[in-house]
Amino acid sequence: MNQHVNQHVNLDDLPIRDDLRGRTPYGAPQIDVPIRLNTNENPYAPSPALVADLAEEVRASAAELNRYPDRDAEALRTELADYLGHGLTKDQVWAANGSNEVLQQILQAFGSHGRTALGFEPSYSMHPIITTGTSTEWISGVREPDFSLDPGKAAAAVEEHRPDIVFLTSPNNPTGTALPMETISRVLDVATGMVVVDEAYAEFARQGTPSALTLLPAHPRLIVTRTMSKAFAMAGTRLGYLAAHPAVIDALLLVRLPYHLSTLTQTAARVALRHRAELLGTVDKLRQERDDIVDWLRGKGLTVADSDANFVLFGRFPDRRKVWEALLESGVLIREVGPPEWLRVSIGTGEEMAAFRAALEGIL
Ligand SMILES: *Cc1c(COP(=O)(O)O)cnc(C)c1O
Repeated sequence: MNQHVNQHVNLDDLPIRDDLRGRTPYGAPQIDVPIRLNTNENPYAPSPALVADLAEEVRASAAELNRYPDRDAEALRTELADYLGHGLTKDQVWAANGSNEVLQQILQAFGSHGRTALGFEPSYSMHPIITTGTSTEWISGVREPDFSLDPGKAAAAVEEHRPDIVFLTSPNNPTGTALPMETISRVLDVATGMVVVDEAYAEFARQGTPSALTLLPAHPRLIVTRTMSKAFAMAGTRLGYLAAHPAVIDALLLVRLPYHLSTLTQTAARVALRHRAELLGTVDKLRQERDDIVDWLRGKGLTVADSDANFVLFGRFPDRRKVWEALLESGVLIREVGPPEWLRVSIGTGEEMAAFRAALEGIL
């Protein structure tokens, strides 16, 4: 450490907000190992042709980097609306640096001190972190033992707590299952605040699984969030987006930082959308690998949650840390997340999944 840094000062000595004291930051380990199956990225890198097109567009954008970006990302939002379909227009679409920033902007606009957000756990760990990061109170709702969400109980929890924001994650992370439309509808019927349906893994859902986008026309308080980090194979770009009533976008404009989406990010996202046939072309292969690994794990006598996503939650291990560490020693990094006794593996390439199977077989 720099010798001029006083080593006796730590976080607790700073006048940090009381509600941040004792917290730990989000921290999925980033470990450099051969097989990384821990953060649900798409394992397929962009093709040389896509990289070349991206480089060309970035070169053109670079000539204008002395200027601020399009503050409202109009062209990108128009193209995102076109991708989403359902008759959506750019006035109903918003974009930011990853869906995490989208979620944070929602919390900034609709949460804050004295307000509450409700989610049904186990679910995405960033929902409570972003909630409390904006001084909003987190309320933890429960799921059934098989991780499903009972529509009646979900609606009852919303009626009881009257949260300012409800999070529904479909397909859910880390458990993998998509929500029936009925559950989302029942919650919308009783919610007095905003309802956020986090569809980060929508493209991986089984054919015929409807999107909450279909509910938008009837529900001005519904927000559907999406991301380019998962199926779209663009996690490094940091581009998340949402669809909602235009009035919701007006609310987000009040809290977003001016020029939050850099020119380079907007360029990269637009190139990715143009190449969506290639980028989303790996989804079917990943779904097949997912179904294969579910069968294989069950064949080994393990318990596996049904998955509509590009990851699988499996267990149960009295000492899951030991299994996680043994896999890591074999060069396979998965995620120690979710309820105790369970582990989550992201779906990789065929070769990566073969390595995972071989390593786990040795441990079992
Ligand atoms: C990965 C993930 C996100 C995506 O976050 P980005 O900021 O877009 O990378 C959002 N929601 C859920 C449930 C996720 O698992």
